[in-house]
Amino acid sequence: MNTVKTIMEARDQMKAWRKEGYTIALVPTMGYLHEGHASLIRRAASENEKVVVTIFVNPIQFGPKEDLASYPKDLERDKLLCESAGAHLIFAPEVSEMYFEDALTNISVNSLTDGLCGAKRPGHFDGVCTVVSKLFNIISADKAYFGEKDAQQLAVIKRMVRDLNFPIEIIGCPIVREDDGLAKSSRNNYLSLSERTAALILSKSLTKGKDILSSGEKSTELLKTIIKTQLQSEVLASIDYIEVVDALSLKPIEIIDKSTLVAIAVFIGKTRLIDNFIWKSE
Ligand code: AMP
Repeated sequence: MNTVKTIMEARDQMKAWRKEGYTIALVPTMGYLHEGHASLIRRAASENEKVVVTIFVNPIQFGPKEDLASYPKDLERDKLLCESAGAHLIFAPEVSEMYFEDALTNISVNSLTDGLCGAKRPGHFDGVCTVVSKLFNIISADKAYFGEKDAQQLAVIKRMVRDLNFPIEIIGCPIVREDDGLAKSSRNNYLSLSERTAALILSKSLTKGKDILSSGEKSTELLKTIIKTQLQSEVLASIDYIEVVDALSLKPIEIIDKSTLVAIAVFIGKTRLIDNFIWKSE
């Protein structure tokens, strides 16, 4: 497995692989990789001949008060994880390699970005869509793999690919969790011991929500109240949002429908964590 830092080197490798007729997969990440990322890489390796992992902490998707400066990094450890999960190339550019200082172009997906994290993190999805578009133009992959942990991101990228005719297939992969239920995240690294215990309230509250949906409940309001009560029982938790939306349009719904996304964002101390589940009823 090779690691390259320039667009030219990455493109040269793509050209060589294309010449050989290989199928190519892309797994975009911000690094500090964990088992959630590894599951994407393994899936990509099982469905394609070559796998490219990109590691880039994308400054333009962070708000001014967010954790860009403290975002964890460990490229040497990431390389080991990528290699053992079956990656063939890491593309890890510097910010100066990815962005022209006088760039005037960005990509926005409307409507799908109005609610959930889009409402709480202004400009975030423009940053995500712009960097992902650039990565699609640098790494000529057949398929790109994204986690369902970032459910809104997955929906937004799928729509962008459709709307802009990117010649790439987007594959969503299930959320990987710690044994106790906490969704794996590079940001879990920020949590102190007591916060790590408190963070369990995210998955616990969603499990309660799932339980009442399993029992036949259809009211969004009741579902939200149950999740809210759970979250409020944890003193270290402060709710950013609890949303129940149609899984395709991401528009709020009142009655639980065929395919519903139940998504939460919660601060545990200063760390903002997200989690979700998709409920499908017959
Ligand atoms: P990040 O490095 O956090 O930007 O994540 C890179 C990719 O890995 C995104 O597509 C995420 O949705 C995915 N991902 C992150 N955490 C998980 C997880 N716990 N389970 C599955 N996919 C994940």
